[in-house]
Amino acid sequence: MDQIKQFFEDGIVVEIAGDATGLDLLKQVNPANKNDVLALLVNGEIRDLRRPLVPDAKVRFLTFDQPEGKEVYWHSSAHLMAHAVEQLFPGAKFGVGPAIEEGFFYDIDAGGRLTLEDLPRIEAKMKELAKENSPFVRLEVSKEEALDLFSKKGDEYKLELISGLIDKDAQISLYREGEFTDLCRGPHLPTAGKIKQIKLFGMSGSYWRGDSKGKPMQRIYGITFPAKEQLDAYVLRMEEARKRDHRKLGAELDIFSMHEEGPGFPFWHNNGVVIIRTLEEYLRKKLARRGYEEIITPIILDQKMWLQSGHYENFKDKMYFTNVDEREFAVKPMNCPGSTLVYRTKQRSYRDLPLKLAEFGLVHRNELAGVLHGLLRVRSFTQDDAHVFCAPEQIEDAIVDLIDLTNEVYSTFGFKELETFIATRPELSMGSDEIWENSTNALANALKRRGMEFSLNEGEGAFYGPKIEFNIRDAIGRKWQCGTIQVDFSMPERFGLEYVGADNARHTPVMVHRAIFGSIERFVAILIENYAGRFPVWLAPVQTVVLPIGEGQRDYAVALHQRLVESGIRAQVDLRNEKIGYKIRDWELKKVPYIFVVGAKEAESGAVAVRKHGDANNEVIAADEAVRILLTEAKIPS
Ligand SMILES: [Zn+2]
Ligand SMILES: [Zn+2]
Repeated sequence: MDQIKQFFEDGIVVEIAGDATGLDLLKQVNPANKNDVLALLVNGEIRDLRRPLVPDAKVRFLTFDQPEGKEVYWHSSAHLMAHAVEQLFPGAKFGVGPAIEEGFFYDIDAGGRLTLEDLPRIEAKMKELAKENSPFVRLEVSKEEALDLFSKKGDEYKLELISGLIDKDAQISLYREGEFTDLCRGPHLPTAGKIKQIKLFGMSGSYWRGDSKGKPMQRIYGITFPAKEQLDAYVLRMEEARKRDHRKLGAELDIFSMHEEGPGFPFWHNNGVVIIRTLEEYLRKKLARRGYEEIITPIILDQKMWLQSGHYENFKDKMYFTNVDEREFAVKPMNCPGSTLVYRTKQRSYRDLPLKLAEFGLVHRNELAGVLHGLLRVRSFTQDDAHVFCAPEQIEDAIVDLIDLTNEVYSTFGFKELETFIATRPELSMGSDEIWENSTNALANALKRRGMEFSLNEGEGAFYGPKIEFNIRDAIGRKWQCGTIQVDFSMPERFGLEYVGADNARHTPVMVHRAIFGSIERFVAILIENYAGRFPVWLAPVQTVVLPIGEGQRDYAVALHQRLVESGIRAQVDLRNEKIGYKIRDWELKKVPYIFVVGAKEAESGAVAVRKHGDANNEVIAADEAVRILLTEAKIPS
């Protein structure tokens, strides 16, 4: 057999027999971490170690430390889980079982038999099977053979998947691990024994192919690791996330509630309203400085608006409709069409551009019941929306202005580590190549002008234009998608928007849609979890509480409270007939940033004992000083 060459990225070239596999290459190279190697990256494609090498390929060994290694590890673990389920629940059928951001899942039809109590049993079975250390063997069969195999198994899901494969002559790949064979493209681990630490952590309802009209299935979630320390760290992080869960803290801190009577529609309590209004006020100041105008448009508009905007066509499954006076109306899923009506109320000239119309707009989207999740996925939410109408040559500057605003806002909340993407032209889209190229370049140039790194999300743009997406990272390292900046040359045309140019001719403006918080509901959820409920003073629903120690300080406490409220501080006074220690604990639990304790000594000298949240020490200072400090910290950042 001829020798072939394999090129490692550090410049090392290996000559090896032409029929060698990745395992042979591993043996020959014999790196120090050879037991950690899970798969091989071949010319950018992840492949099984068991597969034959490709001549003259650029290669890299993958371990769990690389995202590609994790993907192989977790996806293989999904196979192992299906194997365990098949053994424990004979006749179970399997949908899809991908790796996800953290861990994996598998959609299973076991006739609804699975319960949470089964997870430890399945986990134990997985461990047992992993110990058998069976190889993941790739089998290539004809479509016919594959159909035959899965009809014997009676697995209609796999049959449907195989039938859907267009090319009837193509070879179909199956993977066998022990007694379990699955339809799969791969790649996988060389052996199941690489899977060491296993944790199944959840179960939910799902549907075949994610379609609510499809057959209901059960989805089991799990995660696996090569080392115990990794699993321990993960469990710790999950515990921290659970403690910060905004649904739990949202109830404890009296911020919001959800009710079956309005599924997916949040009910904001006073504390939540304070947070929202404060966020709006914060943003409003910034918008004023940047020359925005603010508008409010109706929640319900004639259906024809949505036909004209294209939302009806692309979005009607998620829209709410209502018929009044025999006229069809729709509840707005987006604010854009409303803003075009405001634009059209005047003749606009190039001197008016860019025209920036901001709106805190309440929109409704009928999300599937299964995806609703606290405030993170809701059916009604307020976007901190804005539409910037500009001339084509103004796009880049307009985008830079939006990027600056976005960075300013995120840094206020401590979100400094941004991940930025440009989503490019999707297959189904409108507009000329030239206009797509120009606007994608405008986004890229704007980011470069601000020295921001970005990656491309190829084909992920909207049908009407490319967009920038911002992901933020919170205090415990989780990523959240928040803001977007979208260039749109379709809607202005659909709604006949115009401006008079310097040449006196009529032109169509470009519309830039942008949101920074994204959805305020979602952003509040992220803030609750990011701060673990300990809001900074300026955002805290209650900024301080005055606690008199005894009956004798009651009047002093009431007067101090009144003074705080009149200075604009969100203060409370706790006159309950309880022990001071009890009251302090109670307000600590409510995570109020400052507690002002007043005893006889403080009342006499016009002082307060200031106690910061989470700090057991008191500092006695003059009441004047305490008010001054609070006022400074309560100031909304500019
Ligand atoms: Zn697979
Ligand atoms: Zn819009």
